Amino acid sequence: APLVELRRATKHYQIGEKPVIALKGIDISIQAREFVAIWGPSGSGKSTLCNLIGMLDSPTSGNVLIDGQEVDDLSDNARSELRNRTIGFVFQNFNLIPVLSALENVMLPLQIAGASSAVARERALERLTEVGLEKHVAHRPAKLSGGQQQRVAIARALVTDPALVIADEPTANLDSGNARRIIELMLDINASHGTAFVFSTHDQRLLESVKRRVLMQDGEIGSDSQPARPGTQT
Ligand code: ADP
Ligand code: ADP
Repeated sequence: APLVELRRATKHYQIGEKPVIALKGIDISIQAREFVAIWGPSGSGKSTLCNLIGMLDSPTSGNVLIDGQEVDDLSDNARSELRNRTIGFVFQNFNLIPVLSALENVMLPLQIAGASSAVARERALERLTEVGLEKHVAHRPAKLSGGQQQRVAIARALVTDPALVIADEPTANLDSGNARRIIELMLDINASHGTAFVFSTHDQRLLESVKRRVLMQDGEIGSDSQPARPGTQT
């Protein structure tokens, strides 16, 4: 089964009297180890799509399957457990905890999952080294640049070894140089660890090295450069 599959997924929001149709019936499959860019203009449905893929939100109609498992059939607890086990998240505002050091921020998901501090510390240090921040582990987020903060957030998303990382506009608050380096870092991690990535952006210039580009247009998939990858089916 694909890692994630959406079947005819729609999302409607109600603002006062006026319904907004954010997604109009999305069919998409994402295989393990894939690297997928979701791009398109503001308001086209990228965030909503990321939220459905990451089980942060449910579709109004249609289906979301993770590893062939219909998410709607799960209890809230089982869904949270599946999400925590399978998916790491990266956000545009980094969402680091300001009073914790970079190291403590990255340790936290493991400690919440029940790991000892010794184990959490060792794995967090490995991840922070991979993202090039070994010299900054003791710093609080405010002492780090935006690019460095996003690297900490990526290390945190990876520390539980998720099959998939979802990054919704991870470069929106970065200058173009740092934005490119964040994409390159995600591509490197994808190549070396096989972690699947889904990331969204409104900036087409960041997509040069990305093979699979899914264009969102007004709540629909306008184009998908690699809709099926039979050679990589697992
Ligand atoms: P993008 O990420 O491409 O900017 P979004 O998925 O955020 O697009 O939004 C798609 C559409 O759905 C937009 O019209 C947006 O205003 C609307 N929308 C998104 N989230 C909500 C929400 N929580 N409540 C109401 N409308 C929403
Ligand atoms: P993006 O940076 O992806 O374009 P948005 O600014 O569209 O993000 O949305 C940011 C957050 O606000 C998202 O979680 C989205 O679901 C929510 N949102 C977007 N539009 C609306 C809206 N009209 N009403 C309420 N929430 C919204």
